[in-house]
Amino acid sequence: MTNDSNRLRIAIQKSGRLSRDSEKLLSQLGIRFVLRDNRLIAHAENLPIDILRVRDDDIPALVMDGIVDLGIVGQNVLEECELERQADSLPASYRELQALGFGKCRLSLAVPEDESFASATELNGKIIATSYPRLLGRYLAGFNTSFRNCQLNGSVEVAPRAGLADAICDLVSTGATLEANGLKEVEVIYRSQATLIARERPFEPAKQQLIDTLMTRLKGVLSARE
Ligand code: ATP
Ligand code: ZN
Repeated sequence: MTNDSNRLRIAIQKSGRLSRDSEKLLSQLGIRFVLRDNRLIAHAENLPIDILRVRDDDIPALVMDGIVDLGIVGQNVLEECELERQADSLPASYRELQALGFGKCRLSLAVPEDESFASATELNGKIIATSYPRLLGRYLAGFNTSFRNCQLNGSVEVAPRAGLADAICDLVSTGATLEANGLKEVEVIYRSQATLIARERPFEPAKQQLIDTLMTRLKGVLSARE
């Protein structure tokens, strides 16, 4: 079943760091909806729009597979998914419509604080714990450096102390979590924010018109924020 619904489907994170800002933005675009706790889908009351609430990790593939029309997701998750799907020869295209200015964070390398660090090349052959092995691999490849992947999708920052890894590559906003785990941030490898993406396949005219209206409103919302 593909997405041939007449209603515009927008995927947002159900509960997490992007949820509140995503919901607020959709409201600011003039979409009226009520979110009920356990519901996957919220039907807008005033426009032919359905809001799909899912794990953030599921959003890129839903857009790349054309199951939903639009999605709001962190660029970090988006690009990691894109690289993974390219490697697996799965559909990986999408259109990035607009970076949204919230959900800002950085993906950084960190090492135990008592260790010296001069350059990423020193990590060659080391074990690095991360949830973003492809973004990390792409970055280190630029230094002709390779690493051994310790894939963790949570508790990344405890890996060095637990003896599982030599270093980590994780999302940072204040650095407090790193410090609490005896780590120091040594290199930012990727800067991220939330972004609005659309499926690659062209939209039927009515949907495209609705998207155009939303985009005009979005530009207004973003410029009013500056
Ligand atoms: P889900 O249950 O939806 O999978 P999650 O636990 O994977 O949620 P969150 O921690 O809510 O995800 O983070 C979602 C996104 O928020 C991140 O991928 C990133 O783009 C952004 N973000 C902003 N600041 C931070 C931060 N300090 N740490 C982690 N993510 C951040
Ligand atoms: Zn997630």
